[in-house]
Amino acid sequence: MWRETTKHERNRQIFDEELDAFLPKRILDFHVHVVNEGVLPADNPFHAGGPAIQRYTFEELATDLDECFPGRENSAVCFGIPQVDADHRLNNNYIASRCDNTKFFGLRLLDTHRDDAESVRRDLEGGKLLGLKPYPVYPRKANEADVEIPEMLPDWAMEIVNDLGALVMLHIPRRARLADPLNQRHIVELCSKYPRAKVVLAHIGRAYFYKNVVGNLERLKDLPNLYFDLAMLNSWEVIEYAFRELPAHRILYGSDIPIALAPGKSVEINDQYTYVTPKPWSLSISDDHGKLVFTSFLYEELRAIRKAVERLGLGPDFIEGLFYGNGIRLLRSVQDGSRK
Ligand SMILES: [Zn+2]
Repeated sequence: MWRETTKHERNRQIFDEELDAFLPKRILDFHVHVVNEGVLPADNPFHAGGPAIQRYTFEELATDLDECFPGRENSAVCFGIPQVDADHRLNNNYIASRCDNTKFFGLRLLDTHRDDAESVRRDLEGGKLLGLKPYPVYPRKANEADVEIPEMLPDWAMEIVNDLGALVMLHIPRRARLADPLNQRHIVELCSKYPRAKVVLAHIGRAYFYKNVVGNLERLKDLPNLYFDLAMLNSWEVIEYAFRELPAHRILYGSDIPIALAPGKSVEINDQYTYVTPKPWSLSISDDHGKLVFTSFLYEELRAIRKAVERLGLGPDFIEGLFYGNGIRLLRSVQDGSRK
């Protein structure tokens, strides 16, 4: 089994020794991908940190959350897998049909080529999907690194989001990520022009290594409708910096399950980052000598969060907010807004 949960004794030991006393009793994971059978083409599965998968269902998610967080009440914000050759409508419908706004909360993949204002508004007004998940692949540029945020989030979509006070889970494009001046400008413009939108900067703007985050939160931290998720961040330095710089109530715990369930770790080398995994993955360097015993990205992220919390002397209120309170308050504010 590729998933590194407490089903493996070595992970159970990490949980018992390092995480059990640290984690609060309720956990809301704000960044999870779910995909039903038939969405992904048979010849192009999704590579979850190495292992290729054709589906990742709500049943699997429920089991994995229980097995990653024994004894915790868990819930998750879920969205599909953004892949141009996938059936994103089938994926969106599955998310909408299974999200109850109690345990599971759903977002809608936004493909600017296949979607229009009418279908997006209809899906969001239904109240089952609380916002949009755009992605840099959807503008279908020859070079994905050239994509600009407004191409992923055109005005017609943002007007609906703003109107309904909905969420946007934003995975920013461009090689320099959070440090890119154009990205910085577009994020400020997006949040200012659409003040009722709630924008979550996924992976803190993909700043997985220290130099990418330093000095780059200053322009963004005072935008009242901008939130930051920690998904796949394994660097305690980046997390500590974010905890020091950002308003605590706008930081959200997120994992990036199912990728985060795979064995591996994100590491920083010479102001860059890569993943190290036991099996080859297009985004990683792999341990082909079999030198290491790995745990999940998910547990490496929790270790890094704990280390940053302890170094800064942050208390139980901070921890409860990070793992649950901040996220649930944000979701409830979206639900309140959409009823108006
Ligand atoms: Zn993700």
